[in-house]
Amino acid sequence: MGDSTGHKHKHLELTLAAVSELSSSSSVSSSSSTPVIARFSADDGVAALRFHQGSEFIDGLNVDLGTSQLFKLGPLQSLCVSESADTNKEFRNEEESRDFHSAFEQWQMESKGTHLPNGDISVSKSKFDNKIESSSAKMYFHYYGQLLHQQNMLQDYVRTGTYYAAVIENRVDFTGRVVVDVGAGSGILSLFAAQAGAKHVYAVEASEMADYARKLITGNPTLGQRITVIKGKVEEVELPEKADILISEPMGTLLVNERMLESYIIARDRFLVPNGKMFPSTGRIHMAPFSDEYLFVEIANKALFWQQQDYYGVDLTPLYGSAFQGYFSQPVVDAFDPRLLVCPPMCHVLSFNEIKEEDLYEIDIPLKFTASVGTRVHGLACWFDVLFNGSTVQRWLTTAPGAPTTHWYQIRCVLSQPIYVMAGQEITGRLHMIAHNAQSYTIYLALSAKMWGPGAEQGGIIQTSSCKLDLKEPYYRMSQPQPYTTAQDQQPHQLLQAQDMPPIHTEDLDLEELELLQQPSDL
Ligand code: SAH
Repeated sequence: MGDSTGHKHKHLELTLAAVSELSSSSSVSSSSSTPVIARFSADDGVAALRFHQGSEFIDGLNVDLGTSQLFKLGPLQSLCVSESADTNKEFRNEEESRDFHSAFEQWQMESKGTHLPNGDISVSKSKFDNKIESSSAKMYFHYYGQLLHQQNMLQDYVRTGTYYAAVIENRVDFTGRVVVDVGAGSGILSLFAAQAGAKHVYAVEASEMADYARKLITGNPTLGQRITVIKGKVEEVELPEKADILISEPMGTLLVNERMLESYIIARDRFLVPNGKMFPSTGRIHMAPFSDEYLFVEIANKALFWQQQDYYGVDLTPLYGSAFQGYFSQPVVDAFDPRLLVCPPMCHVLSFNEIKEEDLYEIDIPLKFTASVGTRVHGLACWFDVLFNGSTVQRWLTTAPGAPTTHWYQIRCVLSQPIYVMAGQEITGRLHMIAHNAQSYTIYLALSAKMWGPGAEQGGIIQTSSCKLDLKEPYYRMSQPQPYTTAQDQQPHQLLQAQDMPPIHTEDLDLEELELLQQPSDL
């Protein structure tokens, strides 16, 4: 199978102070003039660790990385238990010990799945691999492995600036502490933590970005000497010590998209000391019904293409229903004017210090609002914020409509059948999100208008509308004219007119009439 470990270098050498085999009392030490060298190699496709002094290999101390475990006994001492031999290693300083542990971990990871002459090494799958389809994970980490996507996040100054402020203003939480950066990307948050005086930062990153992070960190040596980049998934890597504080930016659209919050929680359980801090520590999903005729018409219009009965002699109408449903199953991502909201929002809180990873597999939120105006409700608008609960300053990073726009924008779930409400009327419903193995969620939304006015005491729902959406397939509406303006002359809840849409009031149009409207240019 060639070099199935995928190593760019055929071997790696690190220096130790001493190495000894537990079954024999003899120990080889480097106090003599020739140091003990640990040599990781992948000869014949088998990842192994051997030791030598000068040009002499030390007999009996071969370690098969596929079947070994490394334990830290103290700052300078580690024990390696292997099928072949138990060896006790001593290092000259903590940095060398750390380097050895991280090299061991990486060579071992890369030896997984190795084909050996006498069969394959079988490895139990990690929590990540068990729940995420490998094709999804591959695309996901390929995306984050590219600098342009990291740059996109770095250039979201609301995001990066809030993290920076939250870390620097809360130095006391970082100074002298061990930090784990969960999903480090370019390593920016690790560098912030080091700036705030962290004793050591472990920057864990699964994508190829880990190599760039190493480069960036090496190029900032005063901070970089306190940062170790570890390439691998937080579900799989081993760290030499526990963390006092976790820092991470695991939020996707609607907070939970990408399912990285689960990795953050797993990292908490694996690496954080009891009562350790999490930056951020709380996330909230905010929700409110909205009214937006333009958005509704735009989505309905997209499907009109399939209403054609003579498209090069072909009747497209058999697919109209499916196309219509398809467009309404895409959550809309854009920045909207908060005046489109028709009720005060409600929120669902996730406490990252407390929740279990499994709590994120299914999120079920009962909804209850009171309409502030009489209007047609076209769906549910959602956004999120997260809290950095620092010991000195508490800071929120918000993605709310009306607040400075972030790369998350806001998200809207649009109902294909709007509901009518009067001011003061109660709107109830349910937002039910079920995680799927492509790192996202299926969303089931139902909204109902309760009986209102005289006779309301008899109770009952007068109108219900529901829809199913896939959070993985959003409609990025950024190429459209942005509905959000800061114009002073708009009245609350007055619907805004996108600049190049005809000023038609669409409230009373049915679908046939909608056909008469212009087709959006992107069809
Ligand atoms: N912390 C960086 C990057 C945030 S994007 C910043 O704030 O700029 C999230 C990063 O987490 C991506 O680079 C992604 O590859 C990584 N990631 C996602 N899930 C991971 C996991 N389970 N283990 C390790 N890294 C992960």
